[in-house]
Amino acid sequence: MPVQRLPGVHTGQSPADVQAEVERGILTSTLGRAVAWARKQSMWPVTFGLACCAIEMMATGAGDYDLARWGMELFRASPRQADLMIVAGRLSQKMAPVLRTIYDQMPEPKWVISMGVCASSGGMFNNYGLVQGVDTVVPVDIYVPGCPPRPEMLMYGILRLHEKVQREGRFK
Ligand code: SF4
Repeated sequence: MPVQRLPGVHTGQSPADVQAEVERGILTSTLGRAVAWARKQSMWPVTFGLACCAIEMMATGAGDYDLARWGMELFRASPRQADLMIVAGRLSQKMAPVLRTIYDQMPEPKWVISMGVCASSGGMFNNYGLVQGVDTVVPVDIYVPGCPPRPEMLMYGILRLHEKVQREGRFK
């Protein structure tokens, strides 16, 4: 059977070499790459929605879009069991300390996606009541634009995050 691609395991080998290894039943990698591959294929998002963007996030987790294909259909109610925070919607000044507390309770390694223009920059809400960029509260790995971003856009952001996690694994 021809090998089109090996999801996530980037060994730096040519496709022909990989094909030969698969046929022999052997696949080589580094421990760092293998750990990064496992991490990106089993991210669990924390259940956390702030505003209208959260509806699109919930739709992304439903059957039509099927986050289960990446092992991340389980939105966790406890931050201690989650390693991905999707900041879905505008963040009020009052809610900012709560968001930071939830982030602090998540174990390392952990990642953050800022979903929608409100989370990333305050969007149309240029006023003192809302945080003008969630990256002033938690470190953000991926920004997803739009108002609201469609599930496909969030999934694109998730895939970019997967690439980032896999890239970081190259240096370990
Ligand atoms: S970006 Fe749009 S959809 Fe998302 S929270 Fe702001 S106003 Fe709502």
